[in-house]
Amino acid sequence: MIEDKNNRAQTPADRVRTSKRRILIVEDEPINQQILAAYLESDYELIIADSGEQAKTIIERENRAISLILLDLNLPDLHGLDILRWIKAGSTFSKIPVIVMTSDGEAEVESLNIGAIDFITKPYPLPKVVQARVRRTIELSEGRDLIRETERDGLTGLYTREYFFRYADQFDQFHKDTPMDALILDINHFHMINERFGKGYADRLLQRVGRALYDYANRSGGIACRRNADTFLLYCPHGSDYADAVETVTAAACEEEPGHVRIRVGVYANVDPSIDMELRFDRAKSAADLIKNDYTTCIATYDNDLHEKEIYEERLLEDFHDALVHKQFKVYFQPKFDIRPEKPLLCGAEALVRWVHPVLGFVSPGAFVPLFESNGLVRQLDDYVWRETAACQGRWKKKFGREIPVSVNVSRVDALDPDLADMLCRLTEANGISNSALHLEITESAYTDDAKQIISTVSKLREKGFVIEMDDFGSGYSSISMISTLPIDVMKLDRMLIVNALKEQGNIRMLKVIIDMADSLSVPLIAEGVETEEQFKALKDMGCEMIQGYYFAKPMPEQDFEQYLAEKHQNNGIVTKG
Ligand code: C2E
Ligand code: MG
Ligand code: MG
Repeated sequence: MIEDKNNRAQTPADRVRTSKRRILIVEDEPINQQILAAYLESDYELIIADSGEQAKTIIERENRAISLILLDLNLPDLHGLDILRWIKAGSTFSKIPVIVMTSDGEAEVESLNIGAIDFITKPYPLPKVVQARVRRTIELSEGRDLIRETERDGLTGLYTREYFFRYADQFDQFHKDTPMDALILDINHFHMINERFGKGYADRLLQRVGRALYDYANRSGGIACRRNADTFLLYCPHGSDYADAVETVTAAACEEEPGHVRIRVGVYANVDPSIDMELRFDRAKSAADLIKNDYTTCIATYDNDLHEKEIYEERLLEDFHDALVHKQFKVYFQPKFDIRPEKPLLCGAEALVRWVHPVLGFVSPGAFVPLFESNGLVRQLDDYVWRETAACQGRWKKKFGREIPVSVNVSRVDALDPDLADMLCRLTEANGISNSALHLEITESAYTDDAKQIISTVSKLREKGFVIEMDDFGSGYSSISMISTLPIDVMKLDRMLIVNALKEQGNIRMLKVIIDMADSLSVPLIAEGVETEEQFKALKDMGCEMIQGYYFAKPMPEQDFEQYLAEKHQNNGIVTKG
C-alpha cells in the first residue's frame, strides 16, 4: 500500500515495474482503510487519501493513472457526493470509475445518478464480493476506453473506417426497411493544400470538415467516418438532395481561407441492401471520380449509366491480356505539320492506340487508357505501343531513307520505371533509329502531381537524346515560372484551350500569351485538335509553329499512314531534317 505521504507521482517506469492497477481509496477511518487494504492489497496498488481535499490533490496529480476510486461518502472535510460531482465535471479524469461506499441507502441512488458506477455497502461484505466488484468495474471501464480509442479517429473524432463499417452494418440490421444513402466526401487537391500551407493548416481543415460532417450526420440520423487522409464517408437515411450538406461542409472548410477549398461528393442513393457495405461506398466513389476535373460541379450521383460503365470496364480489364497476346491493340498515326512555310510540311506524327475488340468492336483510348492507368496495366500497353511504333519507324527509315519523328504517349506510371531510359535506348537501337526520332509525350498534370520524380526521369531521357513533348499544356496548373524551369523540348497546346479561345467571346489573349511565352523560352509549340481553317489561320498568325488536327488529317492505321508518307515523300511534302 502507498500511503500518500511522500507526494511523489509515480514515473511510467515505476508503473511498468509494478504493473498493478491503481486504486485510490478515499476513506478516513483507519479500521476501514485496513479492511480494504487486506482485501485488495495483493492484487492492486493502493493509494489512501483520508480527506476530501487530499483525494482531489491526488486525482489531479495522478489523473488517468488511477484505475478506480473507492469513495467513502462521510469524510471529515467534504461530502463524498460533492467530490463525486467534482470528479465527474473534470475534463481529464471524469472517466475514472467511482464506487461509492456507504451505509446510507438513500445516498446510493443519488450517487448512481451523479455518475458512480456501483456501490459497496458498509459494513463491508465478504472479501470475495468486494474483490469481484472491483475487478469487474476495472475490466468494464478499460474495455470501454479501448473501444473509445480505436473506434475514433484521433484528429477529427469521427469513427475510424473499421468501426464505421461495423456500425453501418449494425444500423442496417436494426432498420431493415429504411432506404439508405452512401456518400463519399473528398477535399480537392488536398495534397497540394498540405504542401503549400503546411500540416498544421491541413489538420485544422480536416478537423473543421470532420466537425461539420459529424453535426450533419447527427441531424440526418446517420453516421460518419474519416476513411483516410482527406476522405470522409457518410451513411444516412435516404435524403433527396445533399446540396445543403456540401454547402455546410464547404463553408466549414473555407473558414480560415474563404473560397479556397472545394469539397467533392459522390452519392450512391437508395443503396442496394444485398451488396457489401464497402462496395456501396466504392459506388459512391465512382460517382465522385466523374467530377474529379470538373470545377463546376460538386455532387455526382451513381446511376445506371455508371453501373453499366463499371460492368464495361470490368470486361475490358478481364480481356486485356488476351488482347495483348492476340494483337488486338492497333497503333494509329496522326500527322503533325510544320505550318511556318507557305506550304505546310509534314514534320512527324503521334502514335495513338486503339483497341479492335472481337466483340465490343472499336474502342477508343479514352475508354481504356485512364482505366489501365489507374491499375498500372498501362505500363504493358505502352510497352507494346512503343515497340510497334519503333518497328514502323525502322521500316520507314529503310523505305524512305529518312527518319520520321513519331511521338508516343508516356503515362505517369511509365515514368516511375527506373529502367525506362535504358529500355527505350535498347528499343531504338534494335530498330536502327536514333533516339531523337522517338518523341515522348508526357502530360502536363504529371509534372504538377509529382514534379520531382518526373523532372528527374525526364532529365535522364533528354540526356540520352529523346525529345520530350509536354502534352495537354493548358489543361493543368503549371505556372509560367514553373514551365521555364522544366526540362521540355516541345509544348503541345491542349485542344480545349484552342477551342475555348477561338469560339465566340473566347479569351484569345490567353492563347496569345502562351504562344509568346513558348517563343520567349524558345520552345516550339504544337497546337493540337485543330479542326477548322479559321483556327489554323489564327494560330499561324499568332506564331504557332506546328499543328496536329483533323484539319490536316485524322489518326490513321499504319498502312494508310505509310501510304500518306509515300505521297508526301514524292511531292517534297516532308520537312527536311535540320
Ligand atoms: P492525346 O495524347 O492528347 O492525343 C490527342 C487526342 O486528340 C487523340 O485522341 C486524337 O485523336 C485527338 N485529336 C487530334 N486531332 C483532333 C481534332 O482535330 N479534333 C478532335 N476532336 N480530336 C482530335 P485519342 O486518340 O482518342 O486519344 C485520347 C487520349 O488517350 C490521348 O490524348 C492520350 O492521352 C491517350 N492515349 C492514346 N494513345 C495512347 C497510348 O498509346 N498510351 C497512352 N498512355 N495514352 C494514350
Ligand atoms: Mg499525346
Ligand atoms: Mg494532347
